[in-house]
Amino acid sequence: MGSVSLPHPSLSPVKSISSQITSTEVVVIGAGLAGLAAAVRLAMFGKKVILLEKHYVVGGLNSFYARKGRKFDVGLHALTNYPSPSSGKSSPLLKLCRQLRIPIDELKLLPQSHSRITFGEQSLRFNNDFQYFLSQVEEAFPSSIDAFLKLLKMMEQFPAYSVDAEELSTRSILRDSGIDPLLGEMLLCPTCYYGSARPDDIDFPTFIMLFDAIFKQGLSRPEDGIRAILNPLTAKLKELGVDRRMNSAVRSIQTKGDKAKEVILESGETIKAEKIISTCGIRETESLLQENCIEPNEAQTGQFSIIESIRVFKGHPKDLSWDETVIFFNRSNRFVYDCPKGLVDLESGVICMPDNYGTNHQTEESKLRVTHPANFHRWSQLSEAQYLKEKNYWEKTMLDNALSYLPGGLEKRELLHQRTELLDTFTPKTIKRFTSHINGTLYGSPTKKRDGSTKYKNLYLAGTDQGYVGIVGAMLGGIAVANNQILRAG
Ligand SMILES: Cc1cc2nc3c(=O)[nH]c(=O)nc-3n(C[C@H](O)[C@H](O)[C@H](O)COP(=O)(O)OP(=O)(O)OC[C@H]3O[C@@H](n4cnc5c(N)ncnc54)[C@H](O)[C@@H]3O)c2cc1C
Repeated sequence: MGSVSLPHPSLSPVKSISSQITSTEVVVIGAGLAGLAAAVRLAMFGKKVILLEKHYVVGGLNSFYARKGRKFDVGLHALTNYPSPSSGKSSPLLKLCRQLRIPIDELKLLPQSHSRITFGEQSLRFNNDFQYFLSQVEEAFPSSIDAFLKLLKMMEQFPAYSVDAEELSTRSILRDSGIDPLLGEMLLCPTCYYGSARPDDIDFPTFIMLFDAIFKQGLSRPEDGIRAILNPLTAKLKELGVDRRMNSAVRSIQTKGDKAKEVILESGETIKAEKIISTCGIRETESLLQENCIEPNEAQTGQFSIIESIRVFKGHPKDLSWDETVIFFNRSNRFVYDCPKGLVDLESGVICMPDNYGTNHQTEESKLRVTHPANFHRWSQLSEAQYLKEKNYWEKTMLDNALSYLPGGLEKRELLHQRTELLDTFTPKTIKRFTSHINGTLYGSPTKKRDGSTKYKNLYLAGTDQGYVGIVGAMLGGIAVANNQILRAG
């Protein structure tokens, strides 16, 4: 068993300075899920697209890597928005597949077994049947059920999916809703972890989108992980003639008046474009501009990041009587979602057992993923030796902590250690290195730009800082910008 870190991405592009000038209709910056989806959608309608990516693999925050012959997804605890029979044709995931012309069957989705939110002694279980979740809420909080149903009605009527939805505080809405405060805290935990850029809160439209995505529709995982999504997208880019360039970092975006006119790559090459979509974030895009022009008063920097340890062990979680898929936990009754003062915050976290998707238990080895909030600046200040020491310490401490939330957990510590084949841990520093997100932030700026517009007429933002988070959200965001800002505009 060894502790290893993610491969160091070769972020440096070709060093020779080029004076080449190229022209295209659309430049898309970033081949994460938003950029890939936007480029495919534009090329489908005949646009000439150049897709520029700093890294050497596609996927951005949700990429993949190999370690000792094993395949790892960087993220992918769960693909939200499972198209369960009750969500019918309106499922965002089905809509997404239709727009990108990817047959949903190709994703080979494995639904979750069941998942849990645990706060102290109180638990709420859920699966992909929303009625089951309602029954759990009624059983755990009988005196809150009427207020909860009223809250659900109000959420249905709120225009959460509209680009100008008001970004109210979910904490205050839950407080005023009349539900038990503990139920409110428990609802905040999975929704914040799967998509909040705001400290200790989540804006109400995003809360509704994530509530629908997690509880009403549900969780699944493609049998082949994130590659099941990335491979058809890259195949489509090729088929549609998109010029996809890896190891091609954009150094700056040049503007003239109210228009962006070209991007300059680290290699020195200039690409003139009629329209530019940036998926690297509001603040990150600002820094590429000559001047700080994208609504500087509004743009803030996100702080929330994570540490995640992935343990590969022999056998299946069910051998250890662990049959749940995702467990969101919090030690006390009050959920704190913020950048911790120390390196890691053990108060709350997420456990994911990706091998508990689907019903096939024949795996020779399985993974246990444990995630906690972590402080980017604290991790960045460590010397290399201290960094490795701390990483070692936290992966053990995080496991012991997680075991206390698993059935018979601490008694199984020794057995799990014996079965462990590989341990890999990534920190906020790794996330920064892979995605260039300031502070290694997971969900970007707390201030979003839902319609993707900027001060420049032909420069748009897509993905995380549009406010559409997660795998499905980022792709839908990329498609929405391509459709509304470029294809419909002619
Ligand atoms: C550990 C982890 C686990 C996650 N788990 C899940 C999950 O289980 N389910 C889920 O739905 N979501 C999950 N997410 C969130 C999800 O991955 C993101 O919301 C989504 O992938 C964001 O996509 P994006 O395209 O908007 O941005 P990004 O993925 O950040 O893509 C931006 C791209 O731009 C590139 N770039 C940046 N600057 C430049 C430049 N100057 N020039 C060229 N390229 C540049 C970056 O390299 C990157 O590839 C997870 C995220 C992480 C980090």
